[in-house]
Amino acid sequence: QIILGIETSCDETAAAIIKNGREIVSNVVASQIESHKRFGGVVPEIASRHHVEQMTLVIEEALNQANIQYDDIDAIAVTEGPGLVGALLIGVNAAKAIAFAHGIPLVGVHHIAGHIYANRLIKEMKFPLLSLVVSGGHTELVLMEKHGSFKVIGETRDDAAGEAYDKVARTLNLPYPGGPHIDRLAQEGQPSIKLPRAWLEEGSYDFSFSGLKSAVINTLHNAEQRGEKIAPEDLAASFQNSVIEVLTVKTVQAAQQYQVKQVLLAGGVAANKGLRQALSEQFDGMEDVELIIPPLSLCTDNAAMIAAAGSVLFEKGKRAGLDLNGNPGLALESQ
Ligand code: ATP
Ligand code: MG
Ligand code: FE
Repeated sequence: QIILGIETSCDETAAAIIKNGREIVSNVVASQIESHKRFGGVVPEIASRHHVEQMTLVIEEALNQANIQYDDIDAIAVTEGPGLVGALLIGVNAAKAIAFAHGIPLVGVHHIAGHIYANRLIKEMKFPLLSLVVSGGHTELVLMEKHGSFKVIGETRDDAAGEAYDKVARTLNLPYPGGPHIDRLAQEGQPSIKLPRAWLEEGSYDFSFSGLKSAVINTLHNAEQRGEKIAPEDLAASFQNSVIEVLTVKTVQAAQQYQVKQVLLAGGVAANKGLRQALSEQFDGMEDVELIIPPLSLCTDNAAMIAAAGSVLFEKGKRAGLDLNGNPGLALESQ
């Protein structure tokens, strides 16, 4: 089975070919980070324009690298949401055009289902499993009883983890996207600054990062007003510690409560060194739970993960018509 995956939900134009649901044959990503950097974040209009310019080239490159023709493809999997609507539409329309012209079945994929299925490119899934999804727009604990079935047992009530990283980075005058810069700084500092941890109600698997973000900003401003200097690496380390502690503790609790066989890390923040290390330390000693962490290239946005999710949805009989639309508010549980 050969799947062409297409992803354009945010600021990466991506296409990939995967075989039998698990084998990456090609995985092409054109990043727009350089174009958005000077604005300190993704500018939707610029993102759409870049997708239009890059989409055809990226798809052709994915086919060339895989040495595959359109006629070899069994299905096209495309991100239908969530994301920036103008960005999603470019990928969806490219997918529909190819599907129509070559008579290839089309499957719509939820972007977060893709992030979770990036793990299946590393290791076969075993159910029930728990996925910790930490990305630019999402922070969720997702329980899966079987392929293609997603239950959100906890989610952020305000900022996503990646969003908090990017905002804190901006306060420290670090370039966009700030997550990797905070991660690097944190390795050089000491977590010596007291910052809050949002545990929320007893037993809740929800998250909250806006209080922590405000605490970081206030700490900096207060120090500035007193004419004191705070070492940015210590602030980064303290912030990162707070984020990681809450994510790790809640993930371990949920894994135990639901007796899962695997824990999968997913989303752009899964690239975080501190988080990878903390989760590994927690789960290495546990015999009945296996922790899977994708390599960095599969954590951030790519189309191989969309093809991987699309592969199982295709097998389950999911199909989209030529009326498929970009859906910025698509719910994971409706997948
Ligand atoms: P979503 O997947 O929720 O739609 P997105 O696609 O924009 O959002 P991703 O591309 O999955 O998000 O992840 C990007 C986020 O990951 C950014 O916020 C970025 O700062 C963060 N990130 C990347 N590397 C690291 C790192 N090493 N440490 C912390 N955060 C990181
Ligand atoms: Mg991105
Ligand atoms: Fe993403």
